Amino acid sequence: MQDKLFIDGKWCAPAKGGMLDVIDPATEAVFHKIPAATADDVDLAVKAARKAFDAGPWPRMTGAERASYLRRMAEKIREKKDFLARMEVRDNGKPLPEAAWDMDDVAGCFDFYAGLAEEQDQKPQEVIPLGDARFSCKVVKEPLGVVGAITPWNYPLLMVAWKVAPALAAGCTMVLKPSELASLTTLELGVIAEEVGLPAGVLNILTGLGVDAGQPLTEHPLVDKLAFTGSVATGRKVMIAGAQDIKNVSLELGGKSPFVVFADSDIEQAVEWIMFGIFWNQGQVCSATSRVLIEESAYPKILARLCEEAAKIKIGNGLDDGTLLGPIVSKGQYDKILAAIERGKAEGATVASGGKRPAGLNTGYFLEPTVLTDMSEESWVWKEEIFGPVVCVKPFKDEADAIRMANDSRFGLAAAVMSKDKARAERVARAFRAGIVWVNCSQPTFTDAPWGGYKQSGIGRELGRWGFENYLETKQITGFDSDEPWGWYIK
Ligand code: NAD
Repeated sequence: MQDKLFIDGKWCAPAKGGMLDVIDPATEAVFHKIPAATADDVDLAVKAARKAFDAGPWPRMTGAERASYLRRMAEKIREKKDFLARMEVRDNGKPLPEAAWDMDDVAGCFDFYAGLAEEQDQKPQEVIPLGDARFSCKVVKEPLGVVGAITPWNYPLLMVAWKVAPALAAGCTMVLKPSELASLTTLELGVIAEEVGLPAGVLNILTGLGVDAGQPLTEHPLVDKLAFTGSVATGRKVMIAGAQDIKNVSLELGGKSPFVVFADSDIEQAVEWIMFGIFWNQGQVCSATSRVLIEESAYPKILARLCEEAAKIKIGNGLDDGTLLGPIVSKGQYDKILAAIERGKAEGATVASGGKRPAGLNTGYFLEPTVLTDMSEESWVWKEEIFGPVVCVKPFKDEADAIRMANDSRFGLAAAVMSKDKARAERVARAFRAGIVWVNCSQPTFTDAPWGGYKQSGIGRELGRWGFENYLETKQITGFDSDEPWGWYIK
C-alpha cells in the first residue's frame, strides 16, 4: 500500500510531513496512513502537469498512441482486480462483489475512452460550410489543458476513472485529489501509471484534506479546468474558486432522486428495484432513488413487502461471504445518518423498518436498512440528501400528483418510473426534470451513456462521448481563400 504522493512521475513525502489515518469502517481499526498534501505539494504537482502539457509529448501524441497507454492501464486493473477490490472494501466498507464489479467498470472505462481517442484520429477536423465562397472554415478539437480533478469516497476508483480516462484520452494532464476517506486505490492507479510508463507529470496524485489540498488546487492559476464530484456545498466552493480565473468547471453533485411506482407494476420486481435503488453501496450513491412514491392502491402491499425484504438483508464486513450491506464509510457519515433519522422522527416520520445499529454488530459503522414513512413533503428528510441506506416512502394519487412530487426538489440528478403501461412510463420519463431516468429499474449505469444532473445536481455530463468533450477545446480555423482585395480601407 502506498504512503507517498505521486508528483511528476516520482513518489514523494508531503512537504509538511502530515499523515492521515486510514480506518477500516467494519472494524474501526487504523490500518494504514496516507500523506496529507498541502498548498506546497499542490504547487509542485500543478507545475509538473503544466510542464507536461506545455512541453511534453502527451498532448502531441496521436489518439492511438495515447489509447495504447489507456488500454495497458485497463489490463493492469484487470490483473490486479482482486487486490484492488479488497483494498476498496477495507477503505470504503462496500461488499466485495460490489467492489469487484466497480473494478470491471474502471477497466471498461479506460478501454472505452481509448476507443474514443482512436476514433478522434479518424476525424481530425470538421469542415463548416460558411455560405461565403471566399472563406473556408474547419473546426478542430484540442486537449483543454491542465485538469484539477477532485473526487468523493463512495465509488473511490470508479469516480476517479470517470475523470482520468477521458481527460488522458483527450490529451490533458492532471492533478487528482481523491477523497481523504478512501484514497488507497487511487494511489495504486499511480503505481499503474508508472508500470505502463505514462510520461512524468501527466497524472499527479495528491491525497489530503479538502481544505488543505483540494482548495489550493481549485485556486491554482495554472489549472485550466476543474472537474469535481461531491456534495453541493463543496461544488459551490469549487465553482466560486474557479470563477477567479474563469476556469472551465464541471460538477457532478448530489441528489434526492424519486422513484415513481404505479399500481400496475409487478410487486416483487418493484420491491427488488426499490431496494437496489437505495441499499446498494449502503445507499451512498449520488443517484440513489431515496424518495419512493407509490400509487395509493398499491402502497400498503409494496410497503409491507419492502419492510419484510429490507429486514432480511445480510449486514456485515464487506469481506465476509454473503454480505449485502457493509458499514457506512466513516464515523462522521454514520453519525450524520443517525442524526438524519432522529430529525425525521422529530418531524413526525415513522420508522417502518430498521433505523438503528444491527443487533450483534457492536463495532463498525453498521446501520440497518431503514424505511421511513409518514413524513410531510416539507420535511427535511424528504427534501435533503441523507446519503445512507435510508429510504423515504410516500403514496401518490395520480400521474400528475406523482410528477409534481417527483420534480419538487432543488436536485435533478436521477429519477425512475415503474409501470407496465409503456406509454405512461414514457410520459413520466419525459416529464422528470432529471439528467438520468430509469424505466422499470433503478441504478444500472453504462459507460456509453451521459451522466449528470439538472438543477443543483451539477453542470455538464460525464461518461460517453459527452465525458470526452468535457476535456476538449473547440477551435475554428477560418481562411480567406480569395485573391480579391478585401477593399474596406484600401480601395
Ligand atoms: P464532499 O463534497 O464532502 O467531498 C468531495 C471531495 O471534495 C473530497 O475529495 C474532499 O476532500 C474535497 N473537498 C472538500 N472541501 C473542499 C474544498 N473547500 N475545496 C476543494 N475540495 C474540497 O463529498 P463526499 O462526501 O466525498 O461525497 C458525497 C457527495 O458526492 C454526495 O453529495 C453525493 O451525492 C456526491 N456524488 C455525486 C456523484 C455524481 O456523479 N453526481 C457521484 C458520487 C458522489
